[in-house]
Amino acid sequence: MYKISKDFNLCYGHRVFTQSLNVDFCAKGDTKQKCRHLHGHEGKVTVHLEAEFVDNRGMVVDFKELGWLKDFIDEQLDHKFIIAAHDPMFDMLVTSVYDLAISKEPSYLPVYVPGCSAVGEVVDLAGIPATMPEYETLEGYFIVDFVPTSENLAKWMYDLVAEKMSSFNVKVTCVEWAETPKSVARYYGG
Ligand code: ZN
Repeated sequence: MYKISKDFNLCYGHRVFTQSLNVDFCAKGDTKQKCRHLHGHEGKVTVHLEAEFVDNRGMVVDFKELGWLKDFIDEQLDHKFIIAAHDPMFDMLVTSVYDLAISKEPSYLPVYVPGCSAVGEVVDLAGIPATMPEYETLEGYFIVDFVPTSENLAKWMYDLVAEKMSSFNVKVTCVEWAETPKSVARYYGG
């Protein structure tokens, strides 16, 4: 079996509003549910692919054929705040800011990677001047339909990579989502 992997770096924000700790298992003095705060990470995504045979180029895939993922991460996720649409803070952080800018309910635009299903949404900024602070605030959100834990982000990214790479004769073994070098979630396909 041939196995390859490629890393992608990004800085992102999120918050985990479902955090609930069993403090008996925590380090002393580290029992506050800080993941509920708005916070950020210097993260890393690692994609693992495998194939029983290399293709006629001698490759599982050309590493450059994961360039679409670099584009997606750089353009849609890097320096964005990944927020769940059902986050209890969503109204305060997104809807009310939109209302300040344009006094109506916001609309959202689906985000696609070419050839794949929608992977999330962004706020439709049409009609808001780019010079407004509300524009800059709203521009910074990437909206998902799950709690953005590292585990869920790894599974979400796995599904995207598996869909996009399905035209190659390769298996997506695993996608890792590292929120820090010491804290890594992995999702393995079946
Ligand atoms: Zn975090």
